[in-house]
Amino acid sequence: GGRDGLGAYIAKPESYPSSVVVYHNDDFVAIHDMFPKSSLHLLLLPRDQSKTRLHPFEAFEDAEFLAKVKAEAQRLRKLAAGELRRKYGKDSAQEQARRAALNADPAPDELPPGRDWDREIMCGVHAVPSMNHLHIHVIAVDRYSERLKHRKHYNSFSTPFFVPLNDFPLAADDKRRQPTAEGYLKRDFVCWRCGEPFGNRFAELKKHLGEEFKEWKRL
Ligand code: 5GP
Ligand code: ZN
Repeated sequence: GGRDGLGAYIAKPESYPSSVVVYHNDDFVAIHDMFPKSSLHLLLLPRDQSKTRLHPFEAFEDAEFLAKVKAEAQRLRKLAAGELRRKYGKDSAQEQARRAALNADPAPDELPPGRDWDREIMCGVHAVPSMNHLHIHVIAVDRYSERLKHRKHYNSFSTPFFVPLNDFPLAADDKRRQPTAEGYLKRDFVCWRCGEPFGNRFAELKKHLGEEFKEWKRL
């Protein structure tokens, strides 16, 4: 429990049901975040003992390790995008009906392109993580969850406090390295989708996020 709570998944991934551990291999464990801040929120946990206790900024200074993490995060992003497509995709429902009518799977290149759900997933780390074991958030952009209850929950995914994996390696003078990065959590709210400002009105923001979610998933 506590700040070391993610260690158990790395140590014994096989002891969890698939509703908790999405997959595991020698180098990584992918899990569902226990307090999801979006409709789909996964964590990628590297198992490398020499890295798992490091701050992400330090761990990702190893170029070889960073490349490995980026490749695995890409794999998990694809998986997450597939999950969004199954949950929300219009194209896939139509396709399923068509396949059922044909009683056969069409070749992949016959499928209509549909929506690019990869683009609806963010991969990155928090400038100041709260959990000790190295973890990468793989999270749908919607920020729609009953677990999103506090200002910092929203802003930790909606300000520079969230550092996309693709921004690494970070420059030595990158502002997000500074202890003042925690100040990002206190910023006024801005809707992630339409840019509308909400000041410090969290309840209004939450209501608006619900409306945006409906449109986003149906787009
Ligand atoms: P951080 O702010 O450290 O980048 O994010 C840590 C994440 O771990 C949070 O999103 C939090 O909800 C999640 N979390 C905290 N404790 C547990 C736990 O015991 N199990 C799982 N699966 N997720 C956790
Ligand atoms: Zn909006």
